[in-house]
Amino acid sequence: MPWLATPWQDTVSAERPGWRMRAANLRGRTDDGLDRDEFAFAVDYQLCRRCRIGWVEQPYTQPAYQRRGLAAAGMAALHEENPGFTWHNPGRAHRRLPPFWDTIGADIPDGYRPRTVCEQVTAGG
Ligand SMILES: [Zn+2]
Repeated sequence: MPWLATPWQDTVSAERPGWRMRAANLRGRTDDGLDRDEFAFAVDYQLCRRCRIGWVEQPYTQPAYQRRGLAAAGMAALHEENPGFTWHNPGRAHRRLPPFWDTIGADIPDGYRPRTVCEQVTAGG
């Protein structure tokens, strides 16, 4: 059973200038007894302190780690670290969201409704 070597890695997003990436790398033991970190989950995010909005984009969980609550736990960590922020998915107001967002947003007051990105933040594609 994998466990978290360090809870979360927080780095600059490789894909979106100005964004950050929150990721979980799980440490597992290979058949020959070596410990190895394996990428499990990542989501790009950016905070706008003026609007008090956290923007989140493109969550991804490796298939082997799906349905284990990793994405929800990652988002919960971001919430805890940034109290008072509401969280949105940047995009067109009527964009249809994949089922992931319904699941993750179900327990959160504002959900992750899509919202046109504010002027302080670059959509990043
Ligand atoms: Zn803003």
